[in-house]
Amino acid sequence: MVFDHRRDMFEVARGFAHFFAHESCGFCTPCRIGTELVVRRMDKLAAGYGSLFDEAELDELQGLLHGTTHCGLGATATNPLRDTLMRFRAAYERRLHATHFVPAFDLDAELGPARRVTGRDDPLAHLERYG
Ligand code: SF4
Repeated sequence: MVFDHRRDMFEVARGFAHFFAHESCGFCTPCRIGTELVVRRMDKLAAGYGSLFDEAELDELQGLLHGTTHCGLGATATNPLRDTLMRFRAAYERRLHATHFVPAFDLDAELGPARRVTGRDDPLAHLERYG
């Protein structure tokens, strides 16, 4: 496949990740679970919650799927991830906003109902956004 410089190679790889997770037949665990974990991590980066932790997890997942799946679909499912991590790492790195794990959702916003129940909305009832 040929792309020019206008294509975001992270998004190309994310499209492949969704495709392979959908195509996985589910017979073996590394492919069934691994392809879905790759999708979730890449969606997390796309949503603005990426960290070095997620990048390391993606690296580990692509290695795991290459050696443990039952058929060629699973074994090659992370080739786009592997190749873009190797050749277009900057496309991933600009989506990494923290050095440590951050949740894939706004944890402080999720605690809003608890704050309403307790009647608290002071600064100590909020979590800082990790960054
Ligand atoms: S590697 Fe092959 S057999 Fe295993 S879940 Fe994926 S598609 Fe099915």
